[in-house]
Amino acid sequence: MAVPNAQHAIVRFGELTLKGLNRRVFVQQLRTNILRRLTAAPKAKVIVKYDHALVFLNGEPEHVVIDALTDTFGISSFSMVYPCVPELESVCEMAVQLLSGEEPCTFKVDTRRKDKTLAFTSVDWDKAVGGAVLRQTSHKVDIHDPQITVRIEVDARTAYLSVKVYPGLGGMPVGSIGKALVLLSGGIDSPVAAYLAMKRGLEIEAVHFASPPYTSPQAVRKVYDLAIQLSRYQPHLIVHTIPVTDLQLELYAKANPSYAVILLRRHMIRLATRLAKQRSAQALITGESLGQVASQSMESMSVIQAVTELPVLRPVVAFDKLDIIAIAKKIDTYRISIEPYADCCTLFSVVNPITRPRLNDVLAEEVKIDYEPMLEACLAGMETQTPVTQTADYL
Ligand code: ATP
Ligand code: MG
Repeated sequence: MAVPNAQHAIVRFGELTLKGLNRRVFVQQLRTNILRRLTAAPKAKVIVKYDHALVFLNGEPEHVVIDALTDTFGISSFSMVYPCVPELESVCEMAVQLLSGEEPCTFKVDTRRKDKTLAFTSVDWDKAVGGAVLRQTSHKVDIHDPQITVRIEVDARTAYLSVKVYPGLGGMPVGSIGKALVLLSGGIDSPVAAYLAMKRGLEIEAVHFASPPYTSPQAVRKVYDLAIQLSRYQPHLIVHTIPVTDLQLELYAKANPSYAVILLRRHMIRLATRLAKQRSAQALITGESLGQVASQSMESMSVIQAVTELPVLRPVVAFDKLDIIAIAKKIDTYRISIEPYADCCTLFSVVNPITRPRLNDVLAEEVKIDYEPMLEACLAGMETQTPVTQTADYL
């Protein structure tokens, strides 16, 4: 007998059970997000209860549901639940089948009778099902600290079995906290920052600054591919691309080159702030990490941040590069980020950047160009896309 398709998944909430009055909002957002991830399984239904949700497959493929739940923030864990006739022989057979697919491990059986008039005790079934699994698989019993618990819930009509507990991503449902605009550069750090922001419940849109023809079309394509990778956690991630070439050339021609990166960053934050307002985003997110490069000293960060009244969130600010890389590998953005397409800051890479800028000096450099019309021109050249098809395979 082949293992049947699961009937439903039981989805356990993470931190969201702690959120008091906002619980309802969080739980409804989670339901919406699960459904958004299940467009490939249109017959699936989601029902939310107080501290868990049930996803009914209605014949949709199990792996589609498992993938969707694996990538949805706000879930602490989930299990697939398999129904069978409530007779000992069938339940034993099903338990053996479900456990046969697992690596050798320790297990116990935990039976609950929902109907107390059933003519057996739960301990009877624990022993009988456990005995069958012991005889027919290489798993060992450990009732105190088992790696797998075979849960059986039985009433007069059906027995429900579940075996494996799939870990969820934790965090909060995307969109339950608000919306933010992430400055997505194509490097390693900003996709990780975007992921961590989504994990805390922020819905995101991305903005990328490009300098064509100094930056190649592939550099933008790479940012799209990163967005597609991130859209596992938030389907249909929107990317705005703003060309900043003219602004950059003007800065390069007129300002002290040591200040060019700081000035460009201030303009990026100005542009992002205006875009955030258009898009109803309440914060900016960057991949800045303290001390990583010259523009990420305390002084640089405060001079850059001074041009916006929006909060600038920096989810990786205190992370070591190796920790950021570990997350980038886990979420599979690393292989895309290390593609060698130059981004717009490379135009300035020849000069010695100032590491401890003072605001007055920066302002003195900044007024050397008439930047306001240039910022408007940058925004006018913006392109907005929702990338869906990854191009390169980044092997
Ligand atoms: P990353 O790996 O994210 O590119 P980085 O270590 O290269 O970061 P910087 O180049 O100093 O750091 O950039 C700091 C942050 O500024 C980036 O994480 C990103 O949020 C933002 N940023 C830099 N360049 C761009 C760009 N061309 N488009 C959008 N955002 C950018
Ligand atoms: Mg960068």
